[in-house]
Amino acid sequence: MDFDGFDFEEFDFENRIVDSGVKASDLDERESEASLRPKTLSDYTGQRRAKDELSIYINAAKLRGEPLDHVLLYGPPGLGKTTLAGIIAAELGVNFRITSGPAIEKKGDLVALLTNLEDGDVLFIDEIHRLSHQIEEILYPAMEDCAIDFIVGKGPAARSIHLALRPFTLIGATTRAGQLTTPLRDRFGVVLRLELYTPDELSAIILRSAGILNIEIDSDSAYEIASRSRGTPRIANRLLKRVRDYAQVKGSGQIDLDTVRDALSMLEIDELGLDNTDRRMLSSMIRFYGGGPVGLETLAATIGEEAVTIEDVYEPYLLQIGFLARTPRGRVVTRMAYEHLGVPYTQKNDDKDDKGQIKIQNVETQ
Ligand code: ADP
Repeated sequence: MDFDGFDFEEFDFENRIVDSGVKASDLDERESEASLRPKTLSDYTGQRRAKDELSIYINAAKLRGEPLDHVLLYGPPGLGKTTLAGIIAAELGVNFRITSGPAIEKKGDLVALLTNLEDGDVLFIDEIHRLSHQIEEILYPAMEDCAIDFIVGKGPAARSIHLALRPFTLIGATTRAGQLTTPLRDRFGVVLRLELYTPDELSAIILRSAGILNIEIDSDSAYEIASRSRGTPRIANRLLKRVRDYAQVKGSGQIDLDTVRDALSMLEIDELGLDNTDRRMLSSMIRFYGGGPVGLETLAATIGEEAVTIEDVYEPYLLQIGFLARTPRGRVVTRMAYEHLGVPYTQKNDDKDDKGQIKIQNVETQ
């Protein structure tokens, strides 16, 4: 294994193909995502626990003729939080207003959004953990008492204004529930964690997307893409489109197992869905830190990535497939990862117990 050959300068982090985040530059991707979003709860594959809970609360709210309680959805990017929020609004038969934490810069932005809501509307705030403190404070009375209080003017002329709002449902989405302030988190009546998808579920999503995009694909090929999609629908859909491109240019246009394997190997995505960055991260941990434990910040500095990106994007899948473990002293590469990378396993640190098993602190990703 060559640890030295990686060119930090040249690697295109922005367009990392198995990255599940949506970049601002990905407007086309956004548009085509919209066409692939399921519109009803029954069309929404997987996430059984979240769907079962939600369908009870939605039905109960409809029976009582009241708005649904505020909902917090959390989990890694690309798992379907925005999609699910849209479905909730559709099932409730109300308007769906969508914004995001970083987009709300001034208090007035949020006040305008809230005062324009109609009875029972769903307001979706993506990346809600990125709301500033002052803006967050407007949300507290809005969520609790359907009202907002704010001050206009300065000095002796300042006046406090109390505005009643129409009842609404706030749906917040975040990749990290742990970063939400306690007062905000406590105001959500329903908190749901979305899980990574199984290859079977992702296969079903790929076959459905292929139908919408008029792509011919057999179930074996769909499963092959699914098992390399890091448990994430956004990545599954993206890989499907890249494989289609490859089939059109390099093959007969027909997607079969060989085409999928060739296309993904061109993209340097291995049979488990790991790409260059994953392999480089694991390799660096092995090479420079004997497999760990490595602190998050140190790891981030070593591979030239932000700590939050490692936590949100890379780590959840590596933890899920058992290639990384969290110990009290940092991240540790497991024996399985060594074997996958073809590096001889060395047992060296005291984070492993007598049998050589890593002492896992908490595999929760939040
Ligand atoms: P998030 O908001 O969590 O980042 P999105 O809701 O934007 O994720 O989902 C990303 C893409 O994945 C969407 O285009 C959607 O079509 C697809 N997707 C997500 N979840 C599902 C699902 N359960 N079933 C089918 N497609 C899904």
